[in-house]
Amino acid sequence: MSLERQEQSGAATHNRYDVVVVGAGPYGLSTAAHLLAHTSQVAVFGKPLELWRDAMPHNMLLRSYWWATSLSDPDHRYSFARYFQEHERASSYPLPKSVFVEYGLWFQRHAVPQVDETFVTKLSRREDSFEALLADGRSVQSRAVVMAPGLGSYVHVPTTYDHLPPELVSHTSHHVAFECFAGKRLAIIGAGQAALETAALAYECGAEVHVVSRRAIRWLREGAVDGRTLWQRLRAPKAGISPGWFNWGLEHFPYVFQQLPRSAKDSLLHGKGSYGPAGAAWLKPRLLGKVVLHEPQHVQSVREADDGAILEFADQTHLHVDHIIVGTGYRVNINRLPMLDPALLKHIQTYQQAPILNQHFESSVPGLYFLGLSSVLSCGPLYRFVIGTDAAARRITEAITQQSMGVSR
Ligand SMILES: Cc1cc2nc3c(=O)[nH]c(=O)nc-3n(C[C@H](O)[C@H](O)[C@H](O)COP(=O)(O)OP(=O)(O)OC[C@H]3O[C@@H](n4cnc5c(N)ncnc54)[C@H](O)[C@@H]3O)c2cc1C
Repeated sequence: MSLERQEQSGAATHNRYDVVVVGAGPYGLSTAAHLLAHTSQVAVFGKPLELWRDAMPHNMLLRSYWWATSLSDPDHRYSFARYFQEHERASSYPLPKSVFVEYGLWFQRHAVPQVDETFVTKLSRREDSFEALLADGRSVQSRAVVMAPGLGSYVHVPTTYDHLPPELVSHTSHHVAFECFAGKRLAIIGAGQAALETAALAYECGAEVHVVSRRAIRWLREGAVDGRTLWQRLRAPKAGISPGWFNWGLEHFPYVFQQLPRSAKDSLLHGKGSYGPAGAAWLKPRLLGKVVLHEPQHVQSVREADDGAILEFADQTHLHVDHIIVGTGYRVNINRLPMLDPALLKHIQTYQQAPILNQHFESSVPGLYFLGLSSVLSCGPLYRFVIGTDAAARRITEAITQQSMGVSR
């Protein structure tokens, strides 16, 4: 490809940058938008909004409010509010995923116009810099690397199901449409938003759906945050994750969690910050009386049958289905990030397979930062959600620009 065509396509045209950003989801794009205000030497790799475009159902609705899913740029010029205004569109709750994707791509075109969609296949350390090898054979060097690879490498399939072939078991992230399940018996494992919304969409496409959950399903309260009484607002103030003082605290003091001792972080992550499985209130009428809810029900074993799979339950009953979809989420384990060179990986200190990060999201390898889900164990549950992009992008940009000016932290 000529240099001019490479530039037009967003391809990285230099072989040396100040910063390489691995990932073009909400976290990678927001951080790149902030970094670009300080240096033009930023290379961003990844497919813009890939998870949202290719690993979530076409007809999905967001659990979050639109105002809690703005990507971040330094002057808030490309917020969701501005997108609605410029496109003369009205906001809604719940918000269709397609609108979030359109907004995210608009943000990318304006705030981070140069995104190279080539994947990084190997990231290694070379004396005082990093080298990123790309899928097409190119390589680039940089002084700092921001890892924002998102959720894709962390798909979690419990061992109970992992011996089954892909025709019989799949993960929620493998499905964008459900027409192929019309007339089929489907078991959906889990009771989080992804599992429950998958159940609703599959049922609406004609499947016979069974939701199997270890615990009774927890339904979130009705979504409206406006028009609440003073008492309701005092009891649970407006917050982007969901109304409540804990979430309000995370959003207004986004860097406090990072400073807590490990034991306090763990107890918050297992308690208030665990955000255990729950379904949005608007899913209830789409499921109750329509799909079969097995709750609480424990799956003891699963075996292949001539025509599908049989789930054996702890109460000695069983369920025979054509296919199982596990909605069991994502588990951080940086050993599963395929691009990390083993020699680099061995220098990244971890806690429960997640990188240990300092208050600037920097790992034990100087100049190597982690964002999004990878950062939750060190930096807090805010960074599970799009609403955490602003705080994370500001912190990392501050650290990287200070580093490049030789300011010690
Ligand atoms: C079903 C579902 C519903 C959700 N709903 C909400 C919601 O309503 N509100 C909310 O706030 N959050 C929601 N989330 C969480 C949401 O996914 C995160 O908040 C957000 O997408 C995280 O952004 P990210 O940039 O860290 O990662 P991702 O969005 O996963 O983006 C990862 C990026 O990394 C790139 N990449 C991966 N590997 C490489 C590589 N080797 N080289 C280069 N690039 C690479 C990908 O192409 C992609 O661009 C939901 C998640 C799921 C699964």
